[in-house]
Amino acid sequence: MRKSIENQLEKIKQKVLACKKCSLYKDRIYPVIGEGNHQAKIMFVGEAPGSSESKTGHPFCGSSGKILDQLLNSIDVKREDIYITNLLKDRPPNNRDPKIEEIKACYPYLKEQIKIIKPKIISPLGRHSMQFLMQKFGLEKEIQLISKIHGQVFQSNQLFKGIKIIPLYHPAVAVYNINMKSILIKDFQILKNNL
Ligand code: URA
Repeated sequence: MRKSIENQLEKIKQKVLACKKCSLYKDRIYPVIGEGNHQAKIMFVGEAPGSSESKTGHPFCGSSGKILDQLLNSIDVKREDIYITNLLKDRPPNNRDPKIEEIKACYPYLKEQIKIIKPKIISPLGRHSMQFLMQKFGLEKEIQLISKIHGQVFQSNQLFKGIKIIPLYHPAVAVYNINMKSILIKDFQILKNNL
């Protein structure tokens, strides 16, 4: 069982390494495919790798990652317990916003990851991830600004039955704003209560 999960995730990795579906591959150093527990109950979906991530291939290893670690720590959860990936597997130049065609081109990899890992909760991190995933999960009518719906629990019966979608602010918002950190800490408590 575990072996087959690992094989399936390895196949995705090989496909991403060879991917040229959008122009982002041209500046690729390392794609950031995703990492963590292959049977995680929570899957975090960020936006796209930043500079540190694209130099190492590891998600959330820069300043946003430090905040994410503190937030996980606040609910007694370790990185090894969760799975973390991004909407885009390659870094957009100068950290610009992802383009919709890039998100669409990359989505089949994320969809496969969700299908294999079967998390109980998906937490989109930030507005791009929230908007795209809520549409994909049949929750388009519920989409509002991230400032309105962060920390709310949505149940989806589309795509993967019974999955909970809990959108959160992107941890980067708390890098320079301590007030945002306390909001994120409260939202992580909601995450924990839904495990
Ligand atoms: N921001 C993201 O959205 N993802 C990362 O992996 C790092 C920073």
